[in-house]
Amino acid sequence: MAGVLRQAGPLAGLVVEFIGAGGERVHTARAGGEVGHTPIGGLTPAAGTPTGSARVIAVGAGKGGVGKSTIAVNLAVGLARRGRAVGILDADIYGPSLPTLLGLGAMEQRVVGGRLQPFLVHGVKAITIGKLVEADKPLIWRGPMAHGAFKQLAEQTDWGELDDLIVDLPPGTGDVSLTLAQTLRLTGAVVVCTPQRVAQDDAARAAKMFEQLGIEVLGVVENMSYFVADDLTPPRVYDLFGRGGAAAMASRLRLPFLGEVPISVALRTNSDKGDPSANFAAGTALAGALEALVGAVEERAASAAVRLGQSRPTLTVRSGAARSGA
Ligand code: ADP
Repeated sequence: MAGVLRQAGPLAGLVVEFIGAGGERVHTARAGGEVGHTPIGGLTPAAGTPTGSARVIAVGAGKGGVGKSTIAVNLAVGLARRGRAVGILDADIYGPSLPTLLGLGAMEQRVVGGRLQPFLVHGVKAITIGKLVEADKPLIWRGPMAHGAFKQLAEQTDWGELDDLIVDLPPGTGDVSLTLAQTLRLTGAVVVCTPQRVAQDDAARAAKMFEQLGIEVLGVVENMSYFVADDLTPPRVYDLFGRGGAAAMASRLRLPFLGEVPISVALRTNSDKGDPSANFAAGTALAGALEALVGAVEERAASAAVRLGQSRPTLTVRSGAARSGA
């Protein structure tokens, strides 16, 4: 199945049509509002797919609601804050969250020369199906349609030069993950899990799926690990969901553990406001947890990229003493 981007008329906005193998129109997605004044052509080849030097890191979860998209967004922003050129692709086509989490609400999707222009927000380039369809309409995709939608977002976006592309996958084990593995050269996957036993079981299935697809699992993140009531003196830590459950699961599966992110009112309110940069306010416990997580992912992704031949170790000679670094 192929996809075609076209402008339906001055006020009708952007229309994305998914064309089946027999040339029939199988799905039409429509963005609200006008889409700018640039000419929109047919499907262009995947020239912009950042497969060259970019590390592609998928973020997956066994089930919805565990904070997968929140972690994906904060990973992207955290890596960008370290000076890397970062893109984020909202591949959660059934429930795209990036418009809210990144505050894209009032912004219009631009298309130039038949290619989607990513939104530049919080230091990252972002693209989401959520800006191509009406917010309150359910998104029902058959397998081939999900495949087509993902490929279009990945391949028809003008990513430019990227160091890292974060891909926010739909929850569970499904068509999009399969397409992802076939479309982009992945560096690895991060699995997000809450501590409870049921979440662990689903996350373990997601990790197994990545392994079956030949995608290295960079590690497991435990989200909503614990809650700190910092209005008490001294602050009291509540273990609501069974802190350490995801770490135990990671160790059972012999997967690296990447870190814990606590339940945080600030994280939730900044997410609702579309302001992830505020999560990194200096000196806060939340910023500390996120920085540690970003550092762990960065380290695992760097060594995976070297193993995959996506980057090479560099040798740095400093004055005084010679040292080598990877
Ligand atoms: P998923 O992508 O797994 O469906 P989301 O990232 O959309 O989950 O998160 C679901 C909700 O939980 C959002 O409202 C988000 O702000 C909130 N959330 C996620 N992680 C945390 C956390 N550590 N503390 C507080 N709220 C969180």
